[in-house]
This record gives sequence, C-alpha cells and structure tokens, in this order.
Amino acid sequence: MTSYLKPFIILSSLFCIVSCKSQTIIVDTQEKNSVIINDTTFVNLKEYSQDFEYDMKYATDDNFLKSKVYDCAECFLRLKTVTALVEANSKFMEKGYKIKIFDCYRPLDIQKKMWKIVSNPKYVANPAKGSIHNRGGAVDITLVDRNGKELDMGTSFDFFGEEASHNYPNVSEEVKQNRILLKNIMTTTGFNSFDSEWWHYNLKLGLNDAVSNVKWECK
Ligand SMILES: [Zn+2]
Repeated sequence: MTSYLKPFIILSSLFCIVSCKSQTIIVDTQEKNSVIINDTTFVNLKEYSQDFEYDMKYATDDNFLKSKVYDCAECFLRLKTVTALVEANSKFMEKGYKIKIFDCYRPLDIQKKMWKIVSNPKYVANPAKGSIHNRGGAVDITLVDRNGKELDMGTSFDFFGEEASHNYPNVSEEVKQNRILLKNIMTTTGFNSFDSEWWHYNLKLGLNDAVSNVKWECK
C-alpha cells in the first residue's frame, strides 16, 4: 500500500463508524422508491386509510354462493380507485358515516371460481368478458353510522331482485334517503352507480383498464 493512501483509509473507516447506519437507511429508502407506483398499480386500501369498515363477504361463506372464494380478506384496488374512495369516505365522515366494504378487486381466477359455482350471467359476470371488479375499478359497499350500525338500504348485499334497484319505488322514505346519500357522494366523487344493485359502484376512469389476475399474498 502506498503510504499516501493510509490516512485516507483511516479517515474513511472513521467516517463509516459514524455514518454507515444512516447510509443503510438511505439505501432502503432508495429501494422503496424504485417500486414505481402509478394510478393503475394495485394497492391495498388499508395502507392508504384506516377509516373504512370491512365485511368481505366472499372471504367467508356468508354470500349467495354459500362458498368462501378468497383465501383471505383484503381490499386491493387500482390506486386511482383507492384515491377516489378515500375522498368519498372523507365526505361521508363529515356527515357522521363511514363506508363499509363488501368486495373490491377480484382476480380473474376468482371470477372463474364463482362462475363455476353459479354459471348464470344474471348473478355472476362471465369471466370470458370480465367485470369492472376484475379491472380493479369497482367496489361493493354500504354505509355505517357512528356506532358502526349499517344504514337500512332495503335489502341485504347481493339480494338479486328488483327491490335492490335504485329505481324500485316501493321502499320506505328512510331507505330512499339512505340510498340517495350513498349515491350522491359516490357519483360526485368519480363513480358510476349500477341501477340494479344499490351496493355497486365503478370508477368512471377505470372502465378501460385491463382485466387482471394479479393476486395478493395471504399472511
Ligand atoms: Zn359489484
């Protein structure tokens, strides 16, 4: 070793004792930033807000299929859907309500599983076409009050009959107002309603995204 390098090496070692820990942190941050997240990336809603209630029906057998089709209950959506949903929830919270989630993004394989159980396009979207749920742009939701009690929407989630339609006239004034409350805020925050299902909303900007089969990890 040439002698003129020695002081430099000693100095570098000293510097490392002081600063190597923070260097490691900087590397970690750089690694995180290298994961590119854009509007269409699938993200987990709970990592963006803790203000939602959940009752993920298809992760249980308490659904019209009488079958648990998800291995675990997680609400994944494209980032732009999450952004709009968080904004809608904050508007509901100003009025004393919160969104309760029944279903979010549904990987295509899950759609196929559901189609196998009930092969009727009246109840389950045909996986050959795919649905907005398979594109990460749809949510099935209701509202709860400050005590976590669901508002009366007239029918249960996934009730397949005309009573579940926004246009069904023979509902009580309370049910009518509850559905209007849900619909008004959702449709003014970037979502479309679906006439025959009071619980279903699609992000208007999500209609052209590709059907996906990305799956989340169950811990
Ligand atoms: Zn739906």
